[in-house]
Amino acid sequence: MTSSNLIEQIKWSADGLVPVIVQDAVSKEVLMLAYMNRESLQKSLDSGETWFWSRSRGELWHKGETSGHTQRIESLRYDCDGDTLLALVRQNGAACHTGAYSCFYRDADGELPEETRPQPDRFAALGGLEATIAKRQAERPEGSYTTYLFDKGLDKILKKIGEESAEVIIGGKNGDRQEIRSEAADLIFHLMVLLRQQDIPLDEVLRELEFRHRKPVKKN
Ligand code: AMP
Ligand code: ZN
Ligand code: ZN
Repeated sequence: MTSSNLIEQIKWSADGLVPVIVQDAVSKEVLMLAYMNRESLQKSLDSGETWFWSRSRGELWHKGETSGHTQRIESLRYDCDGDTLLALVRQNGAACHTGAYSCFYRDADGELPEETRPQPDRFAALGGLEATIAKRQAERPEGSYTTYLFDKGLDKILKKIGEESAEVIIGGKNGDRQEIRSEAADLIFHLMVLLRQQDIPLDEVLRELEFRHRKPVKKN
């Protein structure tokens, strides 16, 4: 579709605006909502970065013009009835002017705790943990629990996986979010120690999950 076509598909409001949901193309988090007029949509299409109409300032606004936190557009979609745009972007830095990655860092109870806030890469912790575990295995620093597991060897690691699994089960039976979260973290950590001990990169497990995800679901 040519850009002039897109501009014609949009059902512009009486004041010549359309709301734009901005979503991170990588993390899939919703980052912010802003408005475009025809000119800012054209500029977005021409430049490949988001331009909006600032209703409070009454002017065209190139997102990131002062903060440097620009948004490179991967895809610009419009909805069924043409009254909303969806911009999938590569976000540079924070989308929110408060410095938050996403504008949606609060809910009815107030600010979300750090661990449930939108994050640019939800799985960054897994990659970091895998690297730390590999480093412990190679260097065996004294006083480290991970060193202790590697020194004890396979049987100890497997025993811990059994114990942590049982604790996840108990947490599940108790229906206690905090307990489940904490025990699941312990289980994942010990699983990752096993993967390292067996020389299996986490990536192989993630690919396996992805591969299954593409096949029809078989219930068992
Ligand atoms: P920036 O476009 O990031 O350089 O920010 C410039 C100005 O735009 C800020 O000082 C805010 O007034 C406004 N602004 C930036 N990001 C947002 C946002 N996500 N929602 C609302 N206003 C914003
Ligand atoms: Zn709609
Ligand atoms: Zn914001």
